[in-house]
Amino acid sequence: MNTPTIEIFSIGTELVMGRIQDTNSHWIAQQVAQLGGKVRRITLVPDEVSDIIGCLQDAIQRGTDILISTGGLGPTPDDVTVECVSTILGTAASVHEPTLQDYMRRRNLTSRDQLTPNLINMATVPSGAEVMQNPVGWAPCILARQEKTCIFILPGPPKEMEALFALYVARYISENYATKSASLRVLVNMYESEVSPLMQSVMERFPGSYLKAYVALRESVDHNLPVDVVAAGADAAEAQRTLQQAVEYFSHLVTENGKRLEYYED
Ligand code: ATP
Repeated sequence: MNTPTIEIFSIGTELVMGRIQDTNSHWIAQQVAQLGGKVRRITLVPDEVSDIIGCLQDAIQRGTDILISTGGLGPTPDDVTVECVSTILGTAASVHEPTLQDYMRRRNLTSRDQLTPNLINMATVPSGAEVMQNPVGWAPCILARQEKTCIFILPGPPKEMEALFALYVARYISENYATKSASLRVLVNMYESEVSPLMQSVMERFPGSYLKAYVALRESVDHNLPVDVVAAGADAAEAQRTLQQAVEYFSHLVTENGKRLEYYED
């Protein structure tokens, strides 16, 4: 199965200081799983040039297929993502003319002199990168390539990030890696230690399936244990088929052990 390895980077000092909760990477990880990608790591990093360059370079050296970063694309001096990626690519950052034209059209400006320095900063990208416009904000989505790795750079505000992810990143993943996933939650009246070997048997029998029990989500020890079953396939139908087979086999193993499996209803 052609599964891309993906790393997610949330950039912002406010995130590592605990002032803003990093919801972007959580959201992106869910989307990637649905698209059939494999998130290898999630990194939170402050607005520090050397830290950002270091962790992105490590991911490139690991041969990661796709890096997705959010944050640090604004116009203020602590927004350094473009500078960092330019350094990694060994290129300068330069103003992207079509993005400036887009800003002028959206602001009804007739002359370039009317553009604010902030807008010019936000239209500045690593030279040679692909740039995709942001219909819900200003900082565009940037796609840079280094060795075998694609680096998607997205702005931090969640609404903008989500729109750009859906428009460009999700499309890129589905077009280039035809894997999809399907998932289902079931409940079993078992302890985690009892159910773990059964989950392992299912994963071994159905490559592309992944089972995870959530002890923390069990309401009390007398309640059933929730288990998520996720399956990946070359397309949505195959993912659904593998999911169904994995759940049926899991149910068979649970019953064989004298226990019960139910489908979880939200
Ligand atoms: P801007 O153009 O708004 O400056 P930016 O790309 O520079 O965008 P940041 O300045 O890093 O992004 O973040 C803007 C706002 O987006 C933050 O104040 C925060 O509220 C939100 N934000 C940034 N990163 C995250 C994240 N990982 N999770 C949740 N919210 C985030």
